[in-house]
Amino acid sequence: MGNLFLEVVTPERVVVSQQVDIVVAPGSLGEFGVLQGHVPFLTGILPGELRYSADGRTEYLAVTTGFAEVSDNKVSVLVDAAEKAKEIDVERAKRAMERAKERLSRDRGTPDIDFQRAEAALRRAIARIKVAEKVM
Ligand code: ATP
Repeated sequence: MGNLFLEVVTPERVVVSQQVDIVVAPGSLGEFGVLQGHVPFLTGILPGELRYSADGRTEYLAVTTGFAEVSDNKVSVLVDAAEKAKEIDVERAKRAMERAKERLSRDRGTPDIDFQRAEAALRRAIARIKVAEKVM
């Protein structure tokens, strides 16, 4: 077991809180990996896949937007939402993806459509679908 502690927290719940060997996460400047002894740093988190290994097993999580802090062999990830791969409702994510794509296909000037919001929803849905595929 590694000497690195991972905590993934959302406003609703603690999704992960355990010792791990390695964490790989979707940072705002690109994917980053953390092993024991990593230098302290702070980064944004974008919708994507967060994975970690413990006891020779790799677990996959879909995360949305937030930030991560690495300090004293602890990785703290605070995001709007996060689900373990097996918790993801793929049909729901596909519906969210189709809804977002349909909104994005309209003319940019269409009133009542918030394109940035639709783009963000699309990114969350794609992240969930990709991560769910890891356990299918
Ligand atoms: P939807 O339009 O389907 O609600 P969303 O991207 O707007 O998707 P979020 O606002 O990111 O949803 O998340 C709201 C809550 O629902 C969070 O607790 C999140 O973990 C959960 N959630 C969202 N989509 C899924 C999914 N496909 N499977 C499981 N949980 C989900």
